[in-house]
Amino acid sequence: MPGAVIALNAGSSSVKFGLYEVDASGRPGLILRGVLDLGDAPRLTAKAANGALLHDRKLAADEGAHFGGLLDLIEGHIGGGSLIAAGHRIVHGGRDFIRPVRLTPDVIEAIEKLTPLAPLHQPRSLAPIRALAALRPELLQVGCFDTAFHQTISRTVARVALPRKYEAEGVRRYGFHGLSYEYIAGRLREISPRLAAGRTVVAHLGNGASLCAMRDGKSVDTTMGFSALDGLVMGTRCGSIDPGVLLYLLQEKGISPDNLEHLLYEESGLLGVSGISADMRTLAASDDPRAIEALELFVFRAARETAALANTLDGLDCLVFTAGIGENSAPIRSAICAKLEWLGVRIDAAANQAHAELISAPDSAVTVLVIPTDEELVVARCSLAVSRQ
Ligand code: AMP
Repeated sequence: MPGAVIALNAGSSSVKFGLYEVDASGRPGLILRGVLDLGDAPRLTAKAANGALLHDRKLAADEGAHFGGLLDLIEGHIGGGSLIAAGHRIVHGGRDFIRPVRLTPDVIEAIEKLTPLAPLHQPRSLAPIRALAALRPELLQVGCFDTAFHQTISRTVARVALPRKYEAEGVRRYGFHGLSYEYIAGRLREISPRLAAGRTVVAHLGNGASLCAMRDGKSVDTTMGFSALDGLVMGTRCGSIDPGVLLYLLQEKGISPDNLEHLLYEESGLLGVSGISADMRTLAASDDPRAIEALELFVFRAARETAALANTLDGLDCLVFTAGIGENSAPIRSAICAKLEWLGVRIDAAANQAHAELISAPDSAVTVLVIPTDEELVVARCSLAVSRQ
C-alpha cells in the first residue's frame, strides 16, 4: 500500500473514523470504519469495509490512551505503508477558513479563537487534533470545515437584520453540514450531471438536521445559520425560534445563559416536544400522542423550510434525502413529500419503501433521490489534496 489517510469526525461523546488506503490513481479506498466512544465506558470498535467486525475493545480512562489505541489499531492495519495524513471534520471555520488547511500550531490557535461562535462543537473538534499532535508530532493533520461549503451564499442570504456593527464582528449566517453537502453534490454529478446543474434541495436529516439549496452544486441557501441551532427541528435542538422566547426565558424566568444553552442544544427538538426520546426510531415506534406530535412538527418544519429554499432557487428540480432519518425513514420522507405536492413532488410509494435511490414517480415534476452521505470520505479526499500541495 503506497499510503493511507485517516478521517476523524468528532461528535459529542464519540469520534467516528474511517481509514482509507490510497491506490495508484491517488484515490482513497475504504479499509475500515470505526467509533472511538469517549463516554463513561470508553471503547474502540472497527468494522471492515464489508461490515465484518475487526476490533472491539474497552479502553483505559485517559484521553491520550484513547487516541493511542486508535493509532495502534490504524498502524496495525496499514502494515508497512505510511500514514500520509489525519484529516478532521471541524464544525466552524468562521470567515477565514473556506478550504481545507494544514493544521499548524498557528492555524490550530486561530481555529480555537472561533470557539465563541460554536462553544459546544469547536472544543470537540479540537480535542482529537491536540491528542494526535501530542502523540505523533510529525503527522500531517488537516482541518476540513463544515461551514466552508456555504461560502458561496450571497451577502443577503448570509445577513442577519441586526445593526451593521455586529456583522463586522462575525454575526452572520454561516451554515453547517457542509462536508455532507459536498459529498452529495459530488454524487449528484455522478448520478445525473443534468440534475446536478439544476436547482436542488438536500435534506440532511439526522440527529442534527438542516437543508441546503444548491444551484449547479453550489450552496445558495441553508437552514442553519450563525449556529447549528437554527432551522429545522432536530433530535435535541430547537431549530428556528422567535428570539422573544429567549428574552422571556432570560428576563421573566431568570434562566442562566448556561442553562439556556443546555435547554436549546440538549433538551429541545424531538426530545423536548415528545418528552420521550430524541431518537426517530423510538418515536416512530411509539403510539404516544406526544411522539406523534413531535413527528408532525418535524415534518411540518422540514416541508416548510424546503419550500422556502425552493423560493431562493426560483423553483425545484431535485430533492435529495440523506443522513440517518433521510436515508432510513420511508414514512418521514413520504410525509414531507406529501406536503410538497403543490410544488410537483410525487413519490413512488414502493420505491420509497424499498429505500431505492430514485423514489419519485415518473410523473413527478421534481426528481426525489435518497443518497447515503459520507462525510469521512470527503475529509479523506480533502486531506489527500492538502498533502499534495
Ligand atoms: P445521524 O445523526 O445521521 O446518525 O442520524 C440519527 C437519526 O437517524 C436518529 O434520530 C435515528 O433514530 C435515525 N434513524 C436511523 N435509522 C433509522 C430508521 N431505520 N428509521 C428511522 N430513523 C432512523
